[in-house]
Amino acid sequence: MTARPIYLDHNASTTPHPEVVEAMLPWLGHAHANPHAEHMHGRFAAEAVEETKASIAELIGANADEILLTSGATESINLVLQGYLRDQGHDAALIHTAIEHKAVFETANALRERGISVRVIPVDCKGRVDPTHVRGAVDAAAVSRVLVSVIHANNEIGTVAPLGAISDALRGARALLHIDASQSNGKIPLSVTEGPLDFVSLSSHKIGGPTGIGALYVAAELRQFLRPLFYGGGQQEGLRPGTIPVFLAVGYGVACKLAIQRMAEDAIYVEKLAEAFLQKLYARRIAFQVLGDESARLPGLRSICIAGIDARDLLDRISKDVSASTGSACAAGAIRSSHVLSALGLTARHAEQVMRFGFARSTNFVEAERAAVVLADACLSSVTADKSTPA
Ligand code: PLP
Repeated sequence: MTARPIYLDHNASTTPHPEVVEAMLPWLGHAHANPHAEHMHGRFAAEAVEETKASIAELIGANADEILLTSGATESINLVLQGYLRDQGHDAALIHTAIEHKAVFETANALRERGISVRVIPVDCKGRVDPTHVRGAVDAAAVSRVLVSVIHANNEIGTVAPLGAISDALRGARALLHIDASQSNGKIPLSVTEGPLDFVSLSSHKIGGPTGIGALYVAAELRQFLRPLFYGGGQQEGLRPGTIPVFLAVGYGVACKLAIQRMAEDAIYVEKLAEAFLQKLYARRIAFQVLGDESARLPGLRSICIAGIDARDLLDRISKDVSASTGSACAAGAIRSSHVLSALGLTARHAEQVMRFGFARSTNFVEAERAAVVLADACLSSVTADKSTPA
């Protein structure tokens, strides 16, 4: 078998922890059952699902009955944004930052078509949002229902939003607060009691759990204000009908338990990996700029811009050795500059020079440093090639 490249794209999806895979296997085989069935098999499965809800809740300081299981953060975000605002016509507003994930932007576009007003709050060059701007937008919205949506840790640059300051700024305002914690959950502390937070979207495959499952925290007293996205057998009190995939739920629950035990230790480890990677680049005399807020950044994520080097071309050339992401997104065959990088003020040309590296517990130092050496060599060879190309 050919050697696989070094995987440094853990913010796109994290390798499932071995404990997660092991815990899921029985539920793919002999233990499989519908957790909504009345018989013993069903009851065992339902207990496993309840245990997962309890683990997710513990990770964010919530109660298990405030957790809905979904197919991932995209669905959770849609359920909150659409479920709270969609039927309000012109009497509702959504306010979100300029560096939200596409799941928020695209849902906002769909809501706009239904007459809901949407306001985007700008960020500074490090991706920081000013809480007073958020409050100003809420106060300016002359409608009955206002929802504010804030990404906790940005997936492209890692900047962590000041949730405490934002919820302080919103105190006494007529707005509810939704946090997209897909990237931050399980990597940095988050408690729904701080603030308090009203809705939180979560994803399993960003924390070493399986892909295809996520969760939505809905504060108990707010459940009555949400409408479901679809209709069916009434599971999860009709708010998210459909049979819960027990094997995915079990894997997600184990990933949460592991995150509770190892969050602090893992954060230190992945930061050391990221720094070892950057140090190796410095040692090879590669000049680069690190994007995002160095004083509030998601552990283990580094988004870097290497002047004069096209990121897509570079990552393509080292793809046999390293898997990482560029800052631009490929949508429907066209290369578009990332809206996050544009929001920071980067020109399209600079955005094309941005690469994101994501380190995880499953990465080791040899891999981190080797990836930097491969990257540096490829950069140096493109500079040499440029110099030898006749004008
Ligand atoms: N929000 C953020 C910040 C993300 O990084 C992602 C995943 O890329 C999502 C939402 C969507 O998550 P999921 O893949 O679970 O639908």
